[in-house]
Amino acid sequence: MRYSTYFIPTHRETPSEAESVSHKLMLRAGMIRKLAAGIYTYLPAGLRSIRKVEAVVREEMNRAGAVEVLMPSVQPAELWQESGRWEYYGRELLRFTDRHDRQSCFGPTHEEVMTDLARKEIHSYKQMPVNLYQIQTKFRDEIRPRFGLMRAREFIMKDAYSFDKDDEGVNLSYEKMYDAYMRIFSRCGLRFRSVEADSGPIGGSYSHEFMVLAETGEDQIASCTVCSYAANLERAKVNPPSEAGDVPGPEMDSLRYVETPGVRTIEHLSAFLSVGPEAVVKTLIFTADGVPVAALVRGDHELNEVKLKNYLGAGEIQLADPAVVAEVSGAPMGFAGPLGLSIRIVADHAVGSMTNIVAGANREDFHVTGLNPGRDLTFQECADLRVITPADPCPRCGEPTAFSRGIEVGHIFKLGTKYSESMKAFFLDERGEERPIIMGCYGIGIGRTVAAAIEQNHDDNGAVFPIPVAPFEVVLLALQMHEPSVVETAEDLYRGLADSGLDVLFDDRDERAGIKFNDADLLGIPVRLTVGLRGVRQGTVEIKLRSETQAATVPVTEAVAFVKDKVKDLYDSLK
Ligand code: ATP
Ligand code: MG
Repeated sequence: MRYSTYFIPTHRETPSEAESVSHKLMLRAGMIRKLAAGIYTYLPAGLRSIRKVEAVVREEMNRAGAVEVLMPSVQPAELWQESGRWEYYGRELLRFTDRHDRQSCFGPTHEEVMTDLARKEIHSYKQMPVNLYQIQTKFRDEIRPRFGLMRAREFIMKDAYSFDKDDEGVNLSYEKMYDAYMRIFSRCGLRFRSVEADSGPIGGSYSHEFMVLAETGEDQIASCTVCSYAANLERAKVNPPSEAGDVPGPEMDSLRYVETPGVRTIEHLSAFLSVGPEAVVKTLIFTADGVPVAALVRGDHELNEVKLKNYLGAGEIQLADPAVVAEVSGAPMGFAGPLGLSIRIVADHAVGSMTNIVAGANREDFHVTGLNPGRDLTFQECADLRVITPADPCPRCGEPTAFSRGIEVGHIFKLGTKYSESMKAFFLDERGEERPIIMGCYGIGIGRTVAAAIEQNHDDNGAVFPIPVAPFEVVLLALQMHEPSVVETAEDLYRGLADSGLDVLFDDRDERAGIKFNDADLLGIPVRLTVGLRGVRQGTVEIKLRSETQAATVPVTEAVAFVKDKVKDLYDSLK
């Protein structure tokens, strides 16, 4: 590719709208442009990286026996009503009405459409196992689109759906996808790990996420320091406190109402009453599908909204506004508490085992102290509702946990019969009996994978792409385009490199050397070959890896072979 006739509009300045490194660099390197919030155009260099990830994904899906299809983006509402997700999916689902007043949505995922295909086409156990995948555009009306391709509204996903006749079959399909994902992210040159996850709104019984490890990742990973347990912090389980062998708790104090004028926060309350936040219960009033619910967590713990939403089985939950809080608690924000509250109350396990609780009194400027479950009130519903903390033991083996950060690039789910039962996708088994198809689904964010590669691999000058994801393998710089000897040498090399099957960007622009070096660095192209007048006079060129600081001087005649070896080494290092 000749830079002079290509289209890579790079920028020197950091765009003000960009908050993350990958977003900044993809804009500066001319890889993407924003059209609207969370909606991007892939410019040629960005599209190249996208296509490279897609190629790896496609190869590995095919290798694992999955079969490619391409489904529509627009999906009829009826299918979502059948599965029960038309409401449940909440406001991320972009719904619209056509000229015939038919409701549709722009697909955020394809379980319904795939299940519809399966129920129409798969009738016998003999047609399974089958795994269908596509690489296709999704739309999710994310509440906070940000970080460029990382959390977009419109984005490209690879999604696969497996159909099996029994549990053994789905286990095997899942394992094949797990292995394919391990190969895909290894082949993309990323440092990553797989973590256990609860399956959230997609449903099903079992799931893993694939996390690219990066300090800037939105996800936190809690992993055991001893066993192999690792989970998204958003989903990591917290076991209830063990009761057996516990030392007897302190004496129960008597219940008292204390005046706490203007004290609305846990910090303020702790200071005001000289108690630790672990003695306080936070009462958070939510509306779950419009119905108020109180969630209780210990003052030093953080409520996990995903767990709460899953526990309630609600389509949408949000913190109640002050008017609702005042109505249900009889007091302004900051004074709600469990005692005497007449709405549904769900308590985190840790709250259930507290004694002498400090909590809001449902009365303006008052809290209660010495509140004791069992004596003063009973919690009908206790559940795991909070975010794991570094002090919590591993939920699997009880050993200490450690936290790290990552970017979720892939997610695989065992769905079981969630969709096949609700949408009646049945087949006839060996004995002629009708049974629901057992499903799995498997997603990879293609754009997010490219962004994650940058988030994990960059320096002050730009991206430092792993070679499989880089827009080009090699960049060839001709430093003085007005010097015939330089141009001639560079043209020869360009032909030589291209003929050996390398993916080369030839910077043949009539620009200053500094600009060419900067753009090559910005684009993160792994191998740089520089042709300059001084070297050409001595019959040499310079070769440098983006990830290293030292350049090598190589005779012009050996340059193509040298570059080929370097490129091969870079790929081999990922095997
Ligand atoms: P997240 O928790 O980050 O919102 P998710 O659990 O909703 O992700 P899935 O439904 O599992 O995501 O989708 C499969 C994959 O699609 C994700 O692993 C991710 O790589 C990608 N993906 C999901 N949402 C987005 C988005 N808004 N922008 C870009 N990629 C996305
Ligand atoms: Mg999401």
